[in-house]
Amino acid sequence: MLPRRNPEASEGSETPIQGGLDFWAPAFAGVTTRCEATSSFTDKLNVYLIYLSGRVKGFLGLEYLLLYFETGQRMCYRVCMNMQPKQRTAGSPDPILQRGEQTDLRDLTPDQLRDYVVALGLPAKRGRQIFAKLCRPGTFGFSQLGISREVITLLSSHATMSNLAPVTVEKSADTTEKFAFRLADGAVIESVLIPEDGRHTLCISSQAGCAMGCRFCLTGGQGFVRNLRPAEIVGQVLAVMNHMVASGIERATPRELLNNLVFMGMGEPLANYDNLLAALTILMDDHGLGFSERRITVSTCGIVPRMDDLGRDIRVNLAVSLHAADDGVRSSLMPVNRTHNLESLLGACRRYPLGKKKVILFEYIMLKGINDSLADAQLLAEKLQGIPSRINLLPYNGSGETEFACPDEAQTLAFQKVLREAGFNTFIRQSRGADISAACGQLAGKS
Ligand code: SF4
Repeated sequence: MLPRRNPEASEGSETPIQGGLDFWAPAFAGVTTRCEATSSFTDKLNVYLIYLSGRVKGFLGLEYLLLYFETGQRMCYRVCMNMQPKQRTAGSPDPILQRGEQTDLRDLTPDQLRDYVVALGLPAKRGRQIFAKLCRPGTFGFSQLGISREVITLLSSHATMSNLAPVTVEKSADTTEKFAFRLADGAVIESVLIPEDGRHTLCISSQAGCAMGCRFCLTGGQGFVRNLRPAEIVGQVLAVMNHMVASGIERATPRELLNNLVFMGMGEPLANYDNLLAALTILMDDHGLGFSERRITVSTCGIVPRMDDLGRDIRVNLAVSLHAADDGVRSSLMPVNRTHNLESLLGACRRYPLGKKKVILFEYIMLKGINDSLADAQLLAEKLQGIPSRINLLPYNGSGETEFACPDEAQTLAFQKVLREAGFNTFIRQSRGADISAACGQLAGKS
């Protein structure tokens, strides 16, 4: 249907043309319009400059200006200006409603949330206010966002606000706790809380399952299910904070409940890069949880191009699951090495921007008879020369579900000695939570 002139239309008025956008329906269903300017050149030629505001399927942006030339009762020409959708930043989920879907406010970075509330006609500062409340443990519903009833009604008609709650919490004899979360589609993910000397480290999952197929890892054996959304990544942190508060752990501020976040749970974080970046942005924002770069470590099995992206896009600590210093051995353990071999991986480590006194953490699972010889240790020392490093040796937690075994203690100590004598800070990390299948490589989302 062609637009017809609304005799009431004037500059600044809403919906200046009756049925003005029906001719593009259904693509523009739900879009509101505002007349920016009108000009009447003759009684038969009216020009409207119209600003479209709303959500358009497949597009992120608003900011569409249409210039209408109305030249009589039946003729209308339209000129579309600035029809480019807003650029989505890398890592940003589409915050704009798709018809039939609702935006989860917890998926949005602070900037996206600001744009979102502005799109709904609210002031930008309301976005910042809502973001801060969303990041506070104990916030479960719109009524806790500190906004008026009218704004609650507006928001809740367009958006949702997800909350993760563990379906099971298991506690190890060594006080490590494992949390299992069942997601809306039934996928199960796990997080592990590791207390140590009054400090708490949370190990977070970034995917349900994992496609990387490392042979020693139960998550890899499970296969890939799907990427986690930012809300599902950040939601693990908030849910564990809620659990800690309910358990009587008190801190001056919520951010002090957890000292460190490590992305070493289920999944390869860099294979879910966009959502990882959005989640990190949410976790690190000063108005939200405010985790500093020193307190977040992202671990990768070695997706080299994404390591470069990470170093460019955000400042966090990097951990590399190395597990072998020889390409043949590493490829047999970790299929990713066939695509990004050791030379390429260690090149990315050398390029990774490190601040003062910062190092890359190399994780090395000790597998009996596979990668635990003194020759392996010497080769590892050679390969890591020149990279500011810390090496964690992880004696394999023989779960009985893979073909590998743990070397004896003497062998592990000898391996460590070679590395230390070569000048590397090397530590033997005893697995935590092995009795509840919460140790490294044991997460399988079976709860
Ligand atoms: Fe995936 Fe990490 Fe397990 Fe490898 S070790 S399969 S990257 S979860």
